[in-house]
Amino acid sequence: MEAPPDPSLVQKAVKHSSLTQHLEALQAAADANGGNRAAATGGYEASAAYVEEQLRAAGYEPRRQEFSYGRRNPVDTFNILADTGSGSGSVLVLGAHLDSVEDGPGLNDNGSGVAAVLEVALRLAEEGAVPRERIRFAFWGGEEDGLYGSEHYVKELSRAEAAAHVAYLNVDVVGSPNAVVFVYDGDGSDTEEAGPEGSAAVERVFQDILRAKGVEALPFGFIGDSDYDAFVQGGIPAGGLFTGDAGTKSEAEARTFGGQAGLQYDECFHLACDTIKNVNMAVLEQMTETLMSATVSLGGIEGGLAKGAATEEGAG
Ligand SMILES: [Zn+2]
Repeated sequence: MEAPPDPSLVQKAVKHSSLTQHLEALQAAADANGGNRAAATGGYEASAAYVEEQLRAAGYEPRRQEFSYGRRNPVDTFNILADTGSGSGSVLVLGAHLDSVEDGPGLNDNGSGVAAVLEVALRLAEEGAVPRERIRFAFWGGEEDGLYGSEHYVKELSRAEAAAHVAYLNVDVVGSPNAVVFVYDGDGSDTEEAGPEGSAAVERVFQDILRAKGVEALPFGFIGDSDYDAFVQGGIPAGGLFTGDAGTKSEAEARTFGGQAGLQYDECFHLACDTIKNVNMAVLEQMTETLMSATVSLGGIEGGLAKGAATEEGAG
């Protein structure tokens, strides 16, 4: 593990305009396909095509991992996986589900997470950052129907491959309009169950990065409601970020994080109004920077984003 990078370097690397571009592409994918990006639809395919094109342009070689689910009417879909070329036998996975519900375009759930993971992949490539661990960027299919993509991924791992996974970092809903900042409760300090061994350290990395920005994140338990679940069940250390969906903001949370008590964190959760306008860009940017910092730290990128620093100095 490396120390997290200087926050100002991360701030410089993560581009607001680029995050907006990712969300616009996902919104357009829904608009051109009946208003959603659900599994096995044109909207999902268009979303996938955008992510793959972006990854390829940055030098990655994305691959589709196909799977199906559902007995009566099987759904054929796929995950997208892309790895950094370097790294040891160990793997750090960053993941976000790429599919939406059928009832809406799913821009906060989970266009926000897709934008965050994609942005970290693109900026690390641009920085020429060389990680000690292999970093794998995962875009899961079939999440909204039952977490099928991540489940398939973990099921396909041999025992040795699973053991080589340093950690899984999940981002699902990270641009909520009435946000709080949750970090998955790896050490089980505030919820029933801790994550697998190593999850406490992952939680601490996220908490420390956020604390340095003046954000006291709240713990969120591994309750089985997103793609971390298969990893947790498989004994792989897990963690990640979440800014709230159908839950209601408390008075105390409103005092800490601003926004409106008594309303859902996202009133458009799983609805047609979960459009690009529903995404809080400031929150998404902060969460993306946090994910980037955690990736530098847990991926063992020596010297952090040193190339960015050198360029900055070089430019005077
Ligand atoms: Zn989701």
